Amino acid sequence: MNDVDRRAARPRIEAAVRHAHASAARVTGDGRAAQYIPELAKADPGLLGIAVHPLDDEPVLAGDVDVPFTLQSVSKVLALALVLRLENDTWLDGLAVEPSGDAFHSIVRLEEEAGRPRNPLINAGAIAVTSRLPGATSRQKSRAFTEYLRELDARPAYRLDRDVYRSEARTGARNRALAHFMNHHGLVDDPDVAVDAYFRQCATTISARELSGAALFLAGRGTDPRSGRSFLAREQTRSVLAIMAMCGLYDEVGRFAVRVGLPAKSGVSGCILAVVPGSMTIAVFSPGLGAEGNSVAGMRALEVLSNDLELSLFD
Ligand code: GLU
Repeated sequence: MNDVDRRAARPRIEAAVRHAHASAARVTGDGRAAQYIPELAKADPGLLGIAVHPLDDEPVLAGDVDVPFTLQSVSKVLALALVLRLENDTWLDGLAVEPSGDAFHSIVRLEEEAGRPRNPLINAGAIAVTSRLPGATSRQKSRAFTEYLRELDARPAYRLDRDVYRSEARTGARNRALAHFMNHHGLVDDPDVAVDAYFRQCATTISARELSGAALFLAGRGTDPRSGRSFLAREQTRSVLAIMAMCGLYDEVGRFAVRVGLPAKSGVSGCILAVVPGSMTIAVFSPGLGAEGNSVAGMRALEVLSNDLELSLFD
């Protein structure tokens, strides 16, 4: 058995998922649901779902894997993949790919760096990416995004959580400021369309089970082994994973690299998507966030899984 097969052996994954769930369940109360989007503050911090999807097998599941949550920042990875595919590009002109060291919605560096976002996973960069989705209106851009999700997971429809969308649209002045600032510097054409499409993309709902399936192409060098369909070229997939590894966990990306050692992206709804290249995807969801904005129980679950299954890329 080679390394990948050994890691992906089902009974071993099942035992690790049970262990991760038990361990993470003990810390769900340590975090607090995101407060700055009023609708997210209502989430039950006791929820916990873990979905581990090996490339060549059915997902291994534990807990609240069918509870829908909004994609929030995890959507940034999928929008990035779609824009790379549509533009047939490995790098996006105008976007840097450096870790930011600033808050995810910071405007400071934008001012210093002439409107150029540090990377596509902080809000400014993500809004710039979303502005490049096809369509002139935010609804059209949002449709292109959900259509892509539908293709990825072969599901009939993806729903917008209207309450979360409205809640963020009402309170998202800072994201609007980022979009307008980038418009001033010529990076975003229509800032109101871009930011509204971004709010819609963030408020798209998914479950941990679905997310682990939809993202499978990221573990498969761009190809989903279930259908054999290629959703992204190999080198583009490599770019996305490298950007996730460097920029995917807010200001906890270093700690995550040390403790988990995988490319991942977290969102303020409490989800984290991690990818084990060539082997599996892992989607965890638990709404209680720690000081850095990452799911406390989600982080714990990923630490246990990485440890038990020897997943760290640095190992
Ligand atoms: N929609 C959220 C915002 O822009 C996403 C943030 C996140 O998940 O990091 O504030």
